[in-house]
Amino acid sequence: MSDSKGTILIVEDEAQIRKFLRISLEAHSYRVCEARLGQDGLELCASEKPDLVILDLGLPDMDGQQFIQRLREWSSVPIVVLSVRAMETEKIAALDAGANDYVTKPFGIGELMARIRVVLRSSEGAMSAATVFEAQGLRVDFSHREVSVDGTPVRLSKKEYELLRMLVRFPGQVLTHQQILREVWDAGRQNETHYLRVLVGQLRHKLGDDPARPRFIVTVQGVGYRLALPAQR
Ligand code: CA
Repeated sequence: MSDSKGTILIVEDEAQIRKFLRISLEAHSYRVCEARLGQDGLELCASEKPDLVILDLGLPDMDGQQFIQRLREWSSVPIVVLSVRAMETEKIAALDAGANDYVTKPFGIGELMARIRVVLRSSEGAMSAATVFEAQGLRVDFSHREVSVDGTPVRLSKKEYELLRMLVRFPGQVLTHQQILREVWDAGRQNETHYLRVLVGQLRHKLGDDPARPRFIVTVQGVGYRLALPAQR
């Protein structure tokens, strides 16, 4: 597990292709999870937090574009689309909806692996290079542990800052109650979600955020919280 290069979710209804992808990806030290339906794929994105999604555009329960739009409402996980050669417009629509790259069926595994490496590298670079997060008037300076809203400094407790830092490190991605509790508190508090509710309330109050019309912190009912994203690219 520790030498895994990351988790890849395959969303593809053809069992043969899923099997081929799983074997190839595992041989390249990726951890793999898979879904046959779009709905299952979306749920796995929330629970498994994959580092990348390989998405077939033709699914039985929703089309690929729909899948991407729904995923992009709360997650910026990179998506590589599998498209059929004849379906050029479909492929472009997928990229417009927020896919990061595509591979045309039938594809060679070497080509797919190269695409995956590039997409993963660029998303890691974007994440680690930043020492300051800034969006929608919220500014978090990681090196000085300073937070401001619309230019006004906000003083946060250690736990409030840790929670905010987690949310902005994964902008738009849902963080589950358990993930946050594990990170902000010690192990053993993992199921005590009322602590988290109180902390989120305090943080919202200090940021001047309205839970009914969230500017910064969005509640994902029954799952956790995420940072509100500005309009999608
Ligand atoms: Ca298909």
